[in-house]
Amino acid sequence: MSRELRPVPINLRNTKIIPFEFQYFEPESLEEALQLLRTYGSEAKILAGGTDLLVKMKIRAVEPKYVINIKLIRELRYVRADRDSVRIGALTTWRDLEKSDLIREEVPALYDAVKSMGSLQIRNMATVGGNLCNASPAADSAPPLLVHEAKIKLTSIEGTREIPITEFFTGPGMTVMKPYELLHEIIIPKRKGGSSFIKVSRVAMDLAIASAATYVEVEDNTIKDVKIALGSVAPRPIRARKCEAALIGKKVDEGVLREIASLVAGEISPIDDVRGSAWYRREVSKVLVYDSLIKSLERVRR
Ligand SMILES: Cc1cc2nc3c(=O)[nH]c(=O)nc-3n(C[C@H](O)[C@H](O)[C@H](O)COP(=O)(O)OP(=O)(O)OC[C@H]3O[C@@H](n4cnc5c(N)ncnc54)[C@H](O)[C@@H]3O)c2cc1C
Repeated sequence: MSRELRPVPINLRNTKIIPFEFQYFEPESLEEALQLLRTYGSEAKILAGGTDLLVKMKIRAVEPKYVINIKLIRELRYVRADRDSVRIGALTTWRDLEKSDLIREEVPALYDAVKSMGSLQIRNMATVGGNLCNASPAADSAPPLLVHEAKIKLTSIEGTREIPITEFFTGPGMTVMKPYELLHEIIIPKRKGGSSFIKVSRVAMDLAIASAATYVEVEDNTIKDVKIALGSVAPRPIRARKCEAALIGKKVDEGVLREIASLVAGEISPIDDVRGSAWYRREVSKVLVYDSLIKSLERVRR
């Protein structure tokens, strides 16, 4: 590595809005960031858009000794496609996704999520990598990426590993990432089915009370493949596998879809909180899954 990585003297300008001291780094390349993570990993936090992290730092929910701002690492910000997949760099903002024809056409459920996410100001700052690493059960990118069977590429100074997104979240705010790893890329296989995402929230710019994404493939008016995922109704974003299994091979029929969508209530474990009750979450999840299935079926490429 060519330049010496010294902390930027941010505390000279600290307005004390963040009520504790920390050392602040601004790596300019992936390699620099990985070196810093190797040195400070367990006591450090990565800063991407800061829309989750800074909120937590202000209320001292997290107090990292070191903050590594990765926003200058341009090589982590992209949406591109190869023959089989769409690839999203971790630093890609929600606004970048909103402007991407590739996302709208190839990953429509994620595009729906973008449209329901925060305000323009938040979408301009917030990154997809940050949304996943924050690991909120309500993370809007999670259900779409679950139904599209995305893989998460994690990188550290030792190398990279790819894991299915189904294995990424382990609980509220928790993932399988090691302290010295960085979420590098999201890899989404290109598929020919239709997908969609729907969320209910208290007001337009709010986290989900509950959300659902579905992916459907149809052949001869019969459901050939289906994936269902939900957010905000369990300790982590989840797939509804029993519901999926019950739908495979069924004729596309609104009555049947409605009946099977209601099975989702048995696969979730919602809680009462400030945003909604467990009872409401169970009831609305049935409707969200049904509505999302209908929307995904309308989007199946024929
Ligand atoms: C007003 C407001 C409205 C919001 N509305 C929504 C909404 O509608 N839907 C929704 O899902 N969320 C919403 N959020 C939450 C937040 O904006 C998103 O979760 C956002 O995508 C987080 O991205 P970020 O880049 O700001 O993450 P940061 O705050 O920078 O980071 C979040 C966490 O991820 C870690 N991290 C970030 N990038 C990486 C990486 N590449 N590798 C490893 N670790 C990393 C950080 O260390 C931190 O722990 C809202 C937040 C606010 C303040």
